[in-house]
Amino acid sequence: MNQHSRFNLPLCLVVEEDVFGNVDEAVQRYLPEIRGQKALIITEKFLHDLYGDIVEEIGNDFGGAEVLEVVNADFDEAVGMAKKICIDNIKVVIGFGGGRVLDVAKYAAFIGKAVYICLPTNLSNDSLASPFSVLGTVGSNRKTLACKIPTAILVDTTMIQKAPVTQTIGGIGDTIAKYTAVYDWSLAAEAEGKPVDDFAYSIAWMCYDSVAHCDEKSLTSKNFLRILARALVMGGLAMEIAGSSRPCSGSEHLFCHALEEYYPQIKISHGYAVALGSVGAANFQGRDDRKMIEVCKTYGLDLNPATYGIDKDLFAEIWSRAASTRPDRVTILNKTDLNRKWLDEIYDRMAE
Ligand SMILES: [Zn+2]
Repeated sequence: MNQHSRFNLPLCLVVEEDVFGNVDEAVQRYLPEIRGQKALIITEKFLHDLYGDIVEEIGNDFGGAEVLEVVNADFDEAVGMAKKICIDNIKVVIGFGGGRVLDVAKYAAFIGKAVYICLPTNLSNDSLASPFSVLGTVGSNRKTLACKIPTAILVDTTMIQKAPVTQTIGGIGDTIAKYTAVYDWSLAAEAEGKPVDDFAYSIAWMCYDSVAHCDEKSLTSKNFLRILARALVMGGLAMEIAGSSRPCSGSEHLFCHALEEYYPQIKISHGYAVALGSVGAANFQGRDDRKMIEVCKTYGLDLNPATYGIDKDLFAEIWSRAASTRPDRVTILNKTDLNRKWLDEIYDRMAE
């Protein structure tokens, strides 16, 4: 068997202005076989109200597709939608929204064996093209579930320009987090006595480099959004090729998981939380954190934990619980003595 035949790469990746007005054109070009098939649009109420005309136009491109609105973004809801997809013979699922909506749409399409077309309305994290969905399970617990990367990804830069700038900054955070993720991945590979996938490793590094060394400093410029969109999508492909989320998720993500699972009262989005985690992780790894701090400053990603209601005690507590969120994952935390003095120093550095 060709080793690479285990990958599912998207058939179509378009990053263009106003592409949501031409979804049928892109579909005809890349996926002619799905024309005329029954389709379902999955979005959420807020976006449906805000972009009703665009949703309707996309629906018309697919012969009047039905629209469902995500409410809870949990496992039951995704499976409920998959049930509908199977019973109603729906062959195409179109996810229109941000991370929560897209994770539900991706999983529902996977279970329902439908073609999945991803139309992100913001660039807040790299889950848009990953082969995983994060869904609520019980209480505030969430689980990362393996599924399939989208068949088509259309990024409309005009739409992204209208999204809150904090969502774009979140996407930057998820991208610079690869700096510490790839390092933890190689540590894990060494511990397990098997090599990292060089290609996935290089792609993840390229994602980081494209944003960290980007000349374009304006968060709303089309150039920057194109670079960030491609970086996020390529992160998804790195996970697909590696067959795990490791190229994009190391101890900085464990910090974020600990925040989400144990401290739901702290309101911080994924990309910001992993960026905060990356500073600690880089220090534990004994690596230079200056570039990532500079990038965060440049694009207005505030790294001061106090901004999010995290004081020194809580910061130390989150780190002490981080490894327990994914006990099977080898990261730098397995060989780090999280002494309080060091954690306080890192905190002070982030608060500068
Ligand atoms: Zn992430």
